[in-house]
Amino acid sequence: MARLLEGKPIAEKIKEQIKQSVAGLNSKPVLASIQVGENAGASAYANSQKKTADLLGIEYQFHKLPAETSQAELINFIQKLNADKSVNGMIIQMPLPAQIDYKKISQYILPDKDIEGMHPANIGKLVFGKAAIVPCTAAAVMELLKETGVDLYGKEVVVVGHSEIVGKPLVLLLLEKFATVTDCHIGTSKAGKLEEHIGKADILIVAVGKAGLIKGDLVKAGAIVIDVGINRVNDKIVGDVEFETAQARAAWITPVPGGVGPLTVAMLMRNLVEAAKLQQ
Ligand code: NAD
Repeated sequence: MARLLEGKPIAEKIKEQIKQSVAGLNSKPVLASIQVGENAGASAYANSQKKTADLLGIEYQFHKLPAETSQAELINFIQKLNADKSVNGMIIQMPLPAQIDYKKISQYILPDKDIEGMHPANIGKLVFGKAAIVPCTAAAVMELLKETGVDLYGKEVVVVGHSEIVGKPLVLLLLEKFATVTDCHIGTSKAGKLEEHIGKADILIVAVGKAGLIKGDLVKAGAIVIDVGINRVNDKIVGDVEFETAQARAAWITPVPGGVGPLTVAMLMRNLVEAAKLQQ
C-alpha cells in the first residue's frame, strides 16, 4: 500500500523558508496580479494567492481589467508594470478572454519579472540547467519527488502530458537529474503505446486532465505516482490516475486534491523572491 505524498506539509516548510528570505530583502517584495474580465475560478485562485502573500510578508497588487481589454491594451499595461521598479513579479490569471493570446502576451513580461517562468528566455535557461525561475507546477512536482528521498539518477521516469506549463519543463528538470525520461502524450495513446510505457515507469507523472485515464493496475509495483490532473467528476475533484488500484501497487502516491496543488502557490511565491533577489 503506497504512502501518501501530501503537498501541504512540504508547502508549509517551503513557506517558512520564503518568510526568512523575504525578511532578508531590502524591501517588501511586490507581486502584481492581472485578471482580465470576470471569472469565478480566476478570482478564487487570486484570493488564495493573496492570502499566501499576506502570510509571507509579500505585497499582492491585484489589477482587474475589463473583459473587453484588447491584446494591445494588455501589453501596454504589462509594459507599465515592467517599468515600475516597485513591482518584482507578475502573474496573468487564466482563463483570458478569446481576443487575448496568452503565449503572445506572456513574452512581453520582462524575464526577471516572469514568476511563472514561461518567458522564452527563462525556458531557455531551463534547457541549460541555469534557471532561477522555474514553471511553478513542474517545480512543485520536483519538490514532491525530493520528499520521497528517491535518487533520480538513471530512473525510468514517464511523464504523461507535454504541455508548455507542466510536461515539457518537467522533462528538462528531470534530465538535469540524469533520469531516463519518456514523455507520453495523445500521440502515444493513439499509437496504442501508453500502457506499455506506464508499466515501465519507476516514477510516473501524469498531467493530462482526463479522469481515470491511467488504470491503477498498470502501475509498476513500487512506483512513485504523481498525479497533476484536476478533474471535476460528480462534484468531486479527482486526478487522472485511478487512485485506489494505483495506491495498492505504488510505493508513493499523491492524493488529488492535496498533492501537487498546495505546492504550486508556494512555488510562485518562491519565484517572486528569486525575482526580487535578481533585481536587487
Ligand atoms: P494541457 O491541457 O495543455 O495538455 C494536455 C496534455 O495531455 C497534452 O500533452 C496531450 O497530448 C495529453 N493528452 C490528452 N489526451 C491524452 C491521452 N488520451 N493520452 C495521453 N495523453 C493525452 O495540459 P496542462 O495544462 O499541463 O494540464 C494538465 C492537467 O493538469 C489538467 O487537469 C490541469 O487542470 C492540471 N494542472 C494542475 C495544476 C496543479 O496545480 N495541480 C497545475 C497545472 C495544470
